[in-house]
Amino acid sequence: MQRFRLGLVGIGKIARDQHLPAIAGDRRFELAAIASRHGRVDGVPNYPDTAAMITGTALDAVSFCTPPEGRHELARIAIAAGKHVMLEKPPAATLSEIEALAALAREKNVTLFTSWHSREAAGVSTARAWLANREIKDVRIDWREDIRRWHPGQEWILAPGGFGVFDPGINALSIATAILPAPLFVTAATMDVPAGRAGPLAAEMQLRCGNAKGRASFDFLQTGPQTWDIEVDTDAGTLRLSLGGSVLQLPGESEVTAADQEYPRLYARFAELLASGTSDVDVSPMRLVADAFLLAERRETEAFKF
Ligand code: NAP
Repeated sequence: MQRFRLGLVGIGKIARDQHLPAIAGDRRFELAAIASRHGRVDGVPNYPDTAAMITGTALDAVSFCTPPEGRHELARIAIAAGKHVMLEKPPAATLSEIEALAALAREKNVTLFTSWHSREAAGVSTARAWLANREIKDVRIDWREDIRRWHPGQEWILAPGGFGVFDPGINALSIATAILPAPLFVTAATMDVPAGRAGPLAAEMQLRCGNAKGRASFDFLQTGPQTWDIEVDTDAGTLRLSLGGSVLQLPGESEVTAADQEYPRLYARFAELLASGTSDVDVSPMRLVADAFLLAERRETEAFKF
């Protein structure tokens, strides 16, 4: 079995919650080094930045868990040095940045993987298969969570390039673009942007999928029970994915749920791509966010503090 020597960059919430355990649980990877300005991981060399890590430790691949703004330059350094690269979602701050990384990866003959963890949720592949031959009548996406609970103190998320409520919302769009049998379009959008911030705290999108209409509602200020639901009306009834894609209800069948394996499955996919020498670069969720930013009517709302 081939083992890949991996470097991890950006030791924040998702690196600690998900990446470090997933890497430790996959024998195809060996965590060989980390790069972080503030975080520390015991047992491996710790470097202050990506360039120092690549120079200091022999690595096959680098996985990036930094915020999307600024990630392009870090990933460019890794790819230019001949390293395979896995990117957290959203893969970069702009579409041009990810296109440039994909071109460089082709030139350097390395793997580039734009990961979308929500696509690995338990119900997604069954939902995709079930919808493949259905006529879509309506799509409803409700993604409402508490920014203070899931992103405590993450000022970057409301700064330019931070995506605001589209940081979680893009997870819903990554599932929708994976399961729907026809392309999605944004036809109109509104965004509520708090005074003095760049990123929206709420957004509404009108959607079209083939001949069907749809909508998406994203909210970052939901306290109490959290909502991560997608409903698709079809000629054969309504499919319902809830809890971020982990619970699937098909018409006439009982609810199916399974343990969260999103990040182990992401690293398994990265290992497959490395073994086969291929890349997986899909920007379709991010393109819809960009389209929403192009079309949106913006409303200023009251200032927000974490
Ligand atoms: P986070 O807790 O703020 O951690 C990000 C880390 O990146 C920071 O600890 C920081 O670590 C490093 N970093 C480098 N440049 C930075 C900059 N300019 N501003 C802030 N941090 C910088 O964020 P996170 O929640 O882990 O999210 C990181 C990425 O994972 C995002 O793309 C997010 O969408 C994605 N994600 C997050 C979650 C979640 O539940 N939070 C879930 C899935 C995916 P250093 O000290 O190492 O520099």
